[in-house]
This record gives sequence, C-alpha cells and structure tokens, in this order.
Amino acid sequence: MKPRYSIVAPIYNEEGNIHDLYERICKVMDTTGDAWELVLVNDGSRDRSPQLMEELAVKDPRVKTVHFARNFGHQTAVTAGIDYAQGAAVVLIDADLQDPPEVILEMIERWKAGYHVVYAVREARKGESWFKIYTAKLFYRIVYRITDVQIPLDTGDFRLMDEKVADVLRRMPEHNRFIRGMTSWIGFRQTGVFYVREARHWGETKYPLRKMVRFALDAITSFSYFPLQIMLSFSLLLGTLAVLAVPIISLLRLIVGPEFLGGQVTTIALLLLLSSFQLFFLFIMGQYVARIYDEVRRRPLYVVARATGFEAHDPARRLAQQRADLSPEARAPEQSLEENSNG
Ligand code: UDP
Ligand code: MG
Repeated sequence: MKPRYSIVAPIYNEEGNIHDLYERICKVMDTTGDAWELVLVNDGSRDRSPQLMEELAVKDPRVKTVHFARNFGHQTAVTAGIDYAQGAAVVLIDADLQDPPEVILEMIERWKAGYHVVYAVREARKGESWFKIYTAKLFYRIVYRITDVQIPLDTGDFRLMDEKVADVLRRMPEHNRFIRGMTSWIGFRQTGVFYVREARHWGETKYPLRKMVRFALDAITSFSYFPLQIMLSFSLLLGTLAVLAVPIISLLRLIVGPEFLGGQVTTIALLLLLSSFQLFFLFIMGQYVARIYDEVRRRPLYVVARATGFEAHDPARRLAQQRADLSPEARAPEQSLEENSNG
C-alpha cells in the first residue's frame, strides 16, 4: 500500500543516532493516524549503521533501506531517498536529530492547508561552533544575494514536499545538487515554519570545511552567473587604472622626483597581484567547466548496492520512465539499480 508520508533520512556513520531517530519518528508519525514509511539511505557508512538499518527493517516493514556502493555525499543520498519514496508527502530530515521530528506535524498541517513545500527555518542553532554558525549564516546570505532563485534564508534540507514537487525533483538530472535551491526553483506554493536547531544527538558533523566549501560552490554555480559576471567589472576597473596610471605617475614623478614608484619591487608586486587575480578567475571558470564536464559524462548520480522493502513499487522502473519523459535520448541512468535484492 502506498503510504501517505515518506520520511527520508541520509545516513553516513550514524550508528549512535539511528535507533533514537527511529523511535522519535515513530512517536511523532503514529499520531497522524496515516500510513507512513521511513526511507533510510546509507551513504557508504563504515560503522555499524548498515546493520542497524537492516535490523530495523526486519523488525518494522515501514522502514525501507537503500545502500550506496560508496559515499556519494549528503545531497545525493537525499536525492536517492526522494527517488525511492512513495508517499504523497515526502519529508527530508537529518539523521542526527538536529531537526526535531516533532516539527513534521506542523509541516503536515501546512501541507493539508494547501502548501506544496513547507521548509523549516532555523530560528536558533544549538551546540554548534561559532565558526559553523557564522560561516553558515554568511553562506546563506551570499547565496541569497547572488542567486536568481529566492532561496529562503537559514533553511536547510529539513522540509516537507508534496509528491508533485518530488516528481519534478526526480526529473532534474543535474549532478551537483543543491536541493534547497532546486525546490525553490520548482515553485508551487511554498511556506516556512520556524524551529530551533538542536545540537547533534550523537557523533560529529560529517561536513568538514572541505565539504562545506564544495557545497557552497555547488550552490552558487548551480544558481548564479554572478562570479562570471564580476570578472567584467574587474577587467573594466583594471583597464581604467592602466589608462590613468601613465599620466598620473608621470605627473607625480615631475613633482615628487624621478624615484617615485621606481624600482623592480613595485613591478614585481603588481605582477604577482595581477596574476593572482587572473588565477582566481581561472579557478572560477574551472568550477563551471568542471560541472559542465560532470553533466556531459552522464554518469548515474549514484550507485545502489542493495535496497530493501521496495519490492512492490519498483522505484528503478518508475525513475527510468520519469527521466526518460524529459530526455528521450538519455541513456537510462538507473541501470545500476537493477540489482536491487528482494529483501
Ligand atoms: N550525510 C551523508 N553523507 C555525507 C555527509 C553527511 O549522508 O557524506 C548525512 C549525515 O549522516 C546526516 C546529514 O547528512 O544525516 C547531515 O550531516 P551532518 O549532520 O554531519 O551535517 P551538519 O548538520 O553538521 O551540517
Ligand atoms: Mg547535523
């Protein structure tokens, strides 16, 4: 039977959280009186998470599992969860209980009132380093300013989406995914609910600085040309300086003396500065080019080693159909899903 709600949680080395996540979700979702499923996506965990997931799935058939062949990253794990989810409303939630499951009930209310996307806005964040909080705040503000879609401030992936929206997401084949941007881009009726982001229940953040930077670059390059456009401003600025420099420096040499700005040091410093600008802009170009390369190779977004609990509805076939709708010539990226086991 098709459940009304799908809760999707990505799991990367969360052995200390899985059980409590399950308990809290049960407690909350059972009060709805409707059928629900919990889709756990194991993003190549190296701890006991996969075993714990399977134990839950054996005990409770509402728990369904997808195991990636390796670590593909948070956004990709969430993508797979959405691909496999069957519910009329799909809820994305982190597995570390930073997003309190109780908020889901409020989201459901809004959904029933006719909204298609209900995102959770962080009013406050507990138990995170000031570095994380401020870089995150800065990140959301930069993205907000320079992207073309209006991505609400201080929202993560914790959100509910109607299956209509989930269906559009399933058909968006882009590789470097920024799901909160993609949902904003889709449109329909969207609204927010406020919540306090808790401290991580167990374990450490799986987002070291390196991943955060990559994530920020994905967000910006997927939704903005701003970094490419500021190159023009820089070029105009430097060009103007160059044109003005000759008369101004000549004049100053007449007034101050011939030593003004003389010597190799000035030349070398300027040269280094300009090369650094140029290399920086090459880096920006490279970021866009690399992402174009990611797209043209058309590799599958993820590789599933095993999935359990989905026998009835065959997500692989549904997905292949949906993606084929969009680009009939596209080679089905879901070949990798064919080896789903039967339980
Ligand atoms: N996660 C994942 N793959 C990764 C990194 C993280 O599936 O490569 C999951 C992780 O298990 C958690 C969620 O994504 O459920 C959010 O990660 P985390 O809590 O570490 O991020 P933070 O809250 O610190 O930004
Ligand atoms: Mg977290």
